[in-house]
Amino acid sequence: MPELPEVETVCRSLRARLRGQKIARVEVRERRLRYPVSRQLSFRLEGRTILEVRRRGKYILVALEGDQVWISHLGMSGKLIYVDASRPRENHDHIIVTLSDGHELRYHDPRRFGLSLVVSEAAIRSVPQLKHLGPEPFDPAFSASYLYAVLRKSRRRVRDLLIDQKVAAGLGNIYANEVLFHAGIRPTTRAWRLGKRQATTIAEFTPLVLEEAIRRRGTSFSDFRDGEDRKGRFQNHLRVYDREGEPCANCSSKIKRVALGNRSAFYCPTCQV
Ligand SMILES: [Zn+2]
Repeated sequence: MPELPEVETVCRSLRARLRGQKIARVEVRERRLRYPVSRQLSFRLEGRTILEVRRRGKYILVALEGDQVWISHLGMSGKLIYVDASRPRENHDHIIVTLSDGHELRYHDPRRFGLSLVVSEAAIRSVPQLKHLGPEPFDPAFSASYLYAVLRKSRRRVRDLLIDQKVAAGLGNIYANEVLFHAGIRPTTRAWRLGKRQATTIAEFTPLVLEEAIRRRGTSFSDFRDGEDRKGRFQNHLRVYDREGEPCANCSSKIKRVALGNRSAFYCPTCQV
């Protein structure tokens, strides 16, 4: 699933392409996403000029004139790509937005786990999917004391807590595992057992790991593509995630995998205690 670095990469790659463009036409070919696409979507988008592209957690927010915001979530395997209109349409191109420069912005989502809706700027806070999002990991609010207060109250495992969108907006399984590797903490550790020093280490490594992943334009195993349909490169720089049995970059121990909830966790048995 695209996480913060992937969604940020999409936003950055689309920003320059979309700013100032007018939405000429919107064709919704499939409404049955995880949250059904409203019949008003085309009506609310057509004729509006795009002002800005920004991110909140794993959501892409396209700000439009008239105080409207088009919100997209890429679900498990979605893409939002800016392409030449002559490029053949594919299966699962569910929403096609024709722009004033003649290009198309295509929302492609084979598993249909995504979301696409338009709300007013003022209504963003009350959108159910966004209103409970916690602080952004790059925000000063995501501090050591904030994280320590959250960790010490929780009986959950630290990996599970970190991927909770109420705790850290945008953090998912790939990067929670990577952060915990750098912090030297096993993903299965109960959150309340961690001290202030460990909370500080996690709070400090989180933005560092995410920043590095953004610099390498995200992780592409199979599906992820940026706004111009290009792969990311961070999959070549992962320390533990999806590396079961491979040697740890620090100590050469074999990376272990453990089933945790419905998503695997990965750790080095020597570096992480
Ligand atoms: Zn190691």
